[in-house]
Amino acid sequence: MDTYVKHLIEDIRSAHRAKEEEPNREETFEDHIRDVERFISGDAEHTLTYHCGLKYEAFPPADRLNDDQMTTISKALDDLLESWNAHADIPEEVPAKMRYQLMVSLLNTPFTFMSYGNTGFDYCTGDPEGCELGKYCRCLDLE
Ligand SMILES: [Zn+2]
Repeated sequence: MDTYVKHLIEDIRSAHRAKEEEPNREETFEDHIRDVERFISGDAEHTLTYHCGLKYEAFPPADRLNDDQMTTISKALDDLLESWNAHADIPEEVPAKMRYQLMVSLLNTPFTFMSYGNTGFDYCTGDPEGCELGKYCRCLDLE
């Protein structure tokens, strides 16, 4: 499985968004409007798979991996998200297996790429009951 994981990490790296040659250009008003329009119009929404080409099916089920492998893959996915101006909002305490599953599920999640700013994937529904973060849900602290 180690060899497979190595290949997978390489695939994740090559799925990073290619940095455009933008000579430190400031965001123009038109750029901003374009991002906002993309965000508002539902039909611009595609999954992360659509954007980066990585397939959900390429990721082995969690029980076929050990914690180290899952942590390595999750970290690689973190970097990938960063290259797409996005991040996943997962609490520190979430164990490797759960983090892995949450990260991989993002591939099938609709995502609007923003050329400026940052898209956050928030797993929390705001209600601890049925929240994907389970006992790691931050809402529980608020009660
Ligand atoms: Zn929650």
